[in-house]
Amino acid sequence: MLSNLTNCPICGRLFMKGLRKVCNTCFKKQEEQFEVVRSYMNKKENRMATVQEVHAYTEVPYERIYQFIREGRLLTTNFPNLGYPCESCGDSIHQGRLCESCKDRVIKGVHQHERQKQFEENVRQDLTSKNQTYRSININRYKD
Ligand SMILES: [Zn+2]
Ligand SMILES: [Zn+2]
Repeated sequence: MLSNLTNCPICGRLFMKGLRKVCNTCFKKQEEQFEVVRSYMNKKENRMATVQEVHAYTEVPYERIYQFIREGRLLTTNFPNLGYPCESCGDSIHQGRLCESCKDRVIKGVHQHERQKQFEENVRQDLTSKNQTYRSININRYKD
């Protein structure tokens, strides 16, 4: 029973885990905020608005606007000046979690990490086979 409960990441209240990541109250609030942002963006003259402008006019928190963009509810194809910050350097991006240059860096980093892991694995296997040799020698001695 308790395992079905989780803390709402926004208000911290306990709620039933299910379809939503946040509690009902916060979900409703988010939907209201989305409506506000959407009706603002739907005005033709606001199509080129930036997140800063949307925030200034709608008073919806930056984090929430970023979330709507991340979730694809505000399409950057329709609103080219909307974006959210890269998780690494804070540059404005339209998809994924990192900007192109950070992605590049991470991919290179991952390769390095893989090589290190492979090296450690080789050393470990080496040690294991040595141990086995040692043990079989011992057994042979015991037999004698
Ligand atoms: Zn909540
Ligand atoms: Zn970046």
